[in-house]
Amino acid sequence: MPPFKAWYAAPMFRYERPQAGRFRQHHQLGVEILGTDDPMADVEVISLLAALYADLGLSSLRLRVNSLGDKSCAPGYREQLLAHLESHGDELCDEHRYKWAVNPLRILDCKRPECRKVSAGAPRLRDALCEDCRRHFAEVLGGLDRLAIGYEQDDCLVRGLDYYTRTTFEYGSDVIEGVGGGGRYDGLVAALGGPEVSGVGFGAGIERILLACDADGVLSAGELRLSRALDAFVVDSSGAGIALEISHELRAAGLAVDRAFDGRSMKAQLKAADRSGARVACMVGADDLADGLVTIRVLRGSDAHLQEKVARDGLAARLCQITRSP
Ligand SMILES: [Zn+2]
Ligand SMILES: [Zn+2]
Repeated sequence: MPPFKAWYAAPMFRYERPQAGRFRQHHQLGVEILGTDDPMADVEVISLLAALYADLGLSSLRLRVNSLGDKSCAPGYREQLLAHLESHGDELCDEHRYKWAVNPLRILDCKRPECRKVSAGAPRLRDALCEDCRRHFAEVLGGLDRLAIGYEQDDCLVRGLDYYTRTTFEYGSDVIEGVGGGGRYDGLVAALGGPEVSGVGFGAGIERILLACDADGVLSAGELRLSRALDAFVVDSSGAGIALEISHELRAAGLAVDRAFDGRSMKAQLKAADRSGARVACMVGADDLADGLVTIRVLRGSDAHLQEKVARDGLAARLCQITRSP
């Protein structure tokens, strides 16, 4: 099964105390990818949020990322942290002094100086990650590097919700925190009574985004498109994970693009390309890649079955030409 992707924009309701730009009823937009463990899905979610902010012209936002581990390493870290808090509990802020044991991770993202001092001496999550989580996180960071998305690794970024596993991330600036963020929630669907399905996504508060727009003095939403068919599907058998860069480049050129995850076979990827409804499949093999070429095959429309090799740096332009014809 290919991963399930969805997006939403809807009113949300919260119980906690209202703050600037955080109302009892607010509006949130988000995306989710369900059904893949591939770290490149985490990168895709983060890069989509980055592109959204860039489209709005927001330049002061910074990305922080962290890994919270999974069910094989997170409980061990929790024990280490509890042991640390056991001996420093009475130094915590008023809010946390008596209830640190309920959710010890929350102490890490408490902004009050008392808690900050205690977390500074706490054992670090990154040292407690198991081998698999370490590799997953390294691949996520590698993917962000490949797309030249700047980030800061923040050991204290735990986010408010207890269901996060592995990757967590958040955008904010000095002026306004929590403009959007998310992470992986691999155990959540099962915990709610569904099947064992991995997931990763983001949520971004629209009121918070508007505050960030005000802070940066920008508001240019550009052209909004609510839904459209896929222009291209990237089929990657290069073994070099080049689908990440190519789909990013094509999206930057305004094309609607999807790709396969989980290192599936060429045949399975082509099938997925066909099923996706994309106009064109872009196939990248090791040989073509070495020559700077990509093979494109038109899947539907007036020139269906047309197949040709194009230079990689002319790919976006050629696709725009094809997808604009009937
Ligand atoms: Zn605190
Ligand atoms: Zn782990």
